[in-house]
Amino acid sequence: MSEKVPYLDLPAQLRPLRKEIDAAIARNIDACSFCLGPDVAQFEKDFATYCGAEHALGFNSGTSALHVALMLLNVGHGDEVITTPHTFVATSWAISYVGAKPVYVDIDDATFNLDPKFIEKAITPRTKAIMPVHLYGHPFDVDAILAIAKKHNLPLVEDACQAHGAKYKGKTVGAFGDAAGFSFYPGKNLGAAGEGGALVTNNAAHAKRARSLREHGSTVRYYHDEIGFNYRMEGIQGAVLGVKLKHLNTWTRERQRVAHRYAELLADTPLQLPTQAAWAESVWHLYVVRHPKRDALKKHLEDNGVGCALHYPLPLHLQKCYAFLGHKEGSFPISEKAARECLSLPIYPELTDKQIQRVVEVVKDFFKK
Ligand SMILES: *Cc1c(COP(=O)(O)O)cnc(C)c1O
Repeated sequence: MSEKVPYLDLPAQLRPLRKEIDAAIARNIDACSFCLGPDVAQFEKDFATYCGAEHALGFNSGTSALHVALMLLNVGHGDEVITTPHTFVATSWAISYVGAKPVYVDIDDATFNLDPKFIEKAITPRTKAIMPVHLYGHPFDVDAILAIAKKHNLPLVEDACQAHGAKYKGKTVGAFGDAAGFSFYPGKNLGAAGEGGALVTNNAAHAKRARSLREHGSTVRYYHDEIGFNYRMEGIQGAVLGVKLKHLNTWTRERQRVAHRYAELLADTPLQLPTQAAWAESVWHLYVVRHPKRDALKKHLEDNGVGCALHYPLPLHLQKCYAFLGHKEGSFPISEKAARECLSLPIYPELTDKQIQRVVEVVKDFFKK
């Protein structure tokens, strides 16, 4: 029996760090700094530096951070936000939470990211922001989208939930727009021991208001300036993330090693492999290949002990929850085709060369039949 290759292997990441993480959690618990507190404050400083940004604020999830990002821009009822249908649903949640309408534009076939060439046609007098995603760890075309945003005087929110440390023309993502949201969900490139997120911005006024919004709309306890939320990061998550952040660059290099190895070994298969735009340094959150016989290939991999996943099987404009937007099959054909053909192969820093070779062997075996 060949070795199984799990799609994700969180225990492998935890093992070498276990003692350090245990100690950080113990220190946090002993200090009883459970909600925000010094561990979160330290992590916020370190993460802002990591992103090359002025401010990073700890949130209880990436979804909350994106929600508050749109609140900072005063996006509200009746407004429209331009975004991508090919992403995790939470990108659109943020838009819906403020009462605005997600206005989808189709993606670029090569990078799966929102395609700048479709944006201008979607702009109306109600458009209040553009919110693209650095999907799978690959940055979107920042300059092209910023140029459109500037021309129409629209703010930009980066959904950077999958792209910690990704670079666009050598510069780390997260500080290109007015605000960015990051997620520390355990499976993300930087994962908490539970839920977590961050809002990143260079704008001091935005940082100040976000700090208040995440804590019941108050800066002085029991005095509430506006209706806020309990979106605070837990102290334990700050402690754990502080330990893990030190390893993030190493992990990213290991993800890049895996991606390059797949590219080498899968080059002579019928699979369409992921590419990197000339201006991009991807952090390879996912390694997404494409093939028209995706479903059969997925079954073949699973039958042979190789984990894989779909990101994402149904574009947002065809989800039941967004049926009221009135889209149909054919509304965004590039996204729909991507959803039919995409298949995510295992990629994580700890994936061994032997495991990579096993994945490749099973893929090649599929095409031999
Ligand atoms: C994970 C993710 C989110 C949401 O983050 P949570 O921390 O799970 O709330 C938002 N957008 C994208 C693209 C994501 O991958």
